[in-house]
Amino acid sequence: MVWLYTVVLLLEDITSVADFRDIVSLNTLKNKFLKDIKNDTDEGAAYLQECFLSLDTKKALNTFVITFYESALVFIMMHEIGHILELDDQTCEELNIISSQSEVSLQEKKIKAEENADLIGHIYSNEYVGEPNFFNMGPILVVLAISINRSAIQIQTDHPSIKNRYESVESKIFDGKNPMDIIHTRKLLYKMNRELQNEGCWNDEDKNWWMNMIGKVE
Ligand SMILES: [Zn+2]
Repeated sequence: MVWLYTVVLLLEDITSVADFRDIVSLNTLKNKFLKDIKNDTDEGAAYLQECFLSLDTKKALNTFVITFYESALVFIMMHEIGHILELDDQTCEELNIISSQSEVSLQEKKIKAEENADLIGHIYSNEYVGEPNFFNMGPILVVLAISINRSAIQIQTDHPSIKNRYESVESKIFDGKNPMDIIHTRKLLYKMNRELQNEGCWNDEDKNWWMNMIGKVE
């Protein structure tokens, strides 16, 4: 234990910008170590772990929150811009989508336009995140946000139903990912949605609307 304390002190001397005092109180650490030596306990190491781990966790959480928030914004903006892009033949070819103009009825045109706009939003928000192994939760959070306090989540109007949009972004975030990671993310979404449901975010008739088999490994 004493060597850990010494290492922290040494690191403080070695690094020109000594920021360890922001993370660890050396006085607290010293007292804990002295107590540990006397009582054969492990409080010093636990304290160190708590200081550094909680900071790491905070940093990781912060990174996730910022990334999801930004990717959600890109998804929304590019959905709207996507409504214009998807009318252009060349863009459709480049993005590998079929324009809503190819549909016959007005209703089908509108649905297809929304699907394309979501697809374009997704493509650009993925590009913005730029990490293929990362579960880009931005688009799914946008669709969930739209669903809160909404009725008729499962009904299609001249827009695809919220349930359809949710399932479509969900299958896209699972696309090409490691099956074990998918299971983990499914669990996470389950917990999150269960919590939202318990908070009364959705009407009774839309209970469990978010449950589906996407990404389920048998
Ligand atoms: Zn739209």
